Amino acid sequence: MAADLTEKVVSLAKRRGFVFPSSEIYGGFRSTWDYGPLGVLLKRNVMEAWWRAMVQERDDIVGIDAAILMAPRVWEASGHLATFTDPLVDCRNCKERWRADQIGDACPKCGSKDLTEARPFHLMFKTHVGPVEDAASVAYLRPETAQGIFVNFANVLQASRKKPPFGIAQQGKSFRNEITPGNFIFRTREFEQMEMEFFVPPDQGPQWFEYWCQQRLNWYVNLGIPKDKLRLRPHDPEELSHYSTGTADVEFDYPWGWGELEGVANRTNYDLTKHSEFSGEKLEYFDQATGERYVPHVIEPAAGVGRSMMAFLLAAYDEDEVGGEARTILHLHPKLAPYKVAVLPLSKKDTLTPLAKQVAATLRARFATDYDETQSIGRRYRRQDEAGTPFCVTVDFESLDDQAVTIRDRDTLAQDRVPVENLVQEIEARLEG
Ligand code: ATP
Repeated sequence: MAADLTEKVVSLAKRRGFVFPSSEIYGGFRSTWDYGPLGVLLKRNVMEAWWRAMVQERDDIVGIDAAILMAPRVWEASGHLATFTDPLVDCRNCKERWRADQIGDACPKCGSKDLTEARPFHLMFKTHVGPVEDAASVAYLRPETAQGIFVNFANVLQASRKKPPFGIAQQGKSFRNEITPGNFIFRTREFEQMEMEFFVPPDQGPQWFEYWCQQRLNWYVNLGIPKDKLRLRPHDPEELSHYSTGTADVEFDYPWGWGELEGVANRTNYDLTKHSEFSGEKLEYFDQATGERYVPHVIEPAAGVGRSMMAFLLAAYDEDEVGGEARTILHLHPKLAPYKVAVLPLSKKDTLTPLAKQVAATLRARFATDYDETQSIGRRYRRQDEAGTPFCVTVDFESLDDQAVTIRDRDTLAQDRVPVENLVQEIEARLEG
């Protein structure tokens, strides 16, 4: 299945409303994608699971939401303006353009070795702010969310009264004019990141780096990705950014090979020092207890929403047979599943509808709930399996008498009769379990 797994997931994603090609009625637009009704739920659940693990359940991390447009000096200080480039080569024969570090000495398309010299290609999207398009009005769309955290370091320190070790987390859109976007939502020019900068006393950098590598790996495991599909890959010394003393990628075994899901980097005091230099503001911590003053070191786990959605979908995709019929199923973790439960009246008859709708309304107040009364019950189960819905609740004619319904489990296919009055509790318990 591995070879065409990507194709199957892409096709399911389109068919079921997870991901649509952007501007599709105009022929699409350069590797941009839109999230449909199921996709937006999955995306929110991924981001919510991250926020929960990184912010809500901890007392040493707070969140922010910084602007996408920032003062251009930010990108001078961070080094992005000078160095945020990819080496680019053109094939003189077929005119295709490639990232020099991703190909050998021949064009992957036509095989020609007549390639141009590599030249730097700037990855930041440029725009103009205000009515005049001149050099003074140039601004950039942020290529990472991290800088919004660094420039707010002093504000957050003061407002939150945290002290190192503590972190600032942020989720949001970033933009990179990638030369070779592709593999569906794995690499796009507009994408969403989930980043956290963890500020620590300088001598504690290495131990927190190890800690965050493990934490971040476990996050994916806890959300249902099998351990053997994940690995931590430490960067070789020549791969490291000049300021980093350690970087490891959390990688997923994509159908096209191991690929980065998330990077965890020890960025030392590089960013705060640079912003201090360029802004003239002191970005340091003064420990009143010890009288010590220092620029904290930073450990950064930086994840991508689209990349992890892709990994969650690939890991969840399965095909099996039920009652002699093929079925496609997404074994998504209940926390990530777009709908937690679907209410399916056995028949469309008027007699069943009021109770079924009432059950759905009760569930909806607590869980993302779908309601489906069209076509045969078998087909409706399969639709929910494909959407990854963990539980289906069937309302039948007996329900009118016994005020009970049947819960069907997506993975075990077990069916249990449950009184309507216990339904919310029962589903809650199963989702938690
Ligand atoms: P790559 O080497 O794959 O280009 P990167 O090392 O440049 O990635 P980082 O700068 O470390 O990526 O960004 C952190 C995370 O943001 C990545 O692990 C990835 O999940 C996500 N990300 C980065 N670029 C893209 C992109 N073009 N499309 C989707 N997600 C991205």
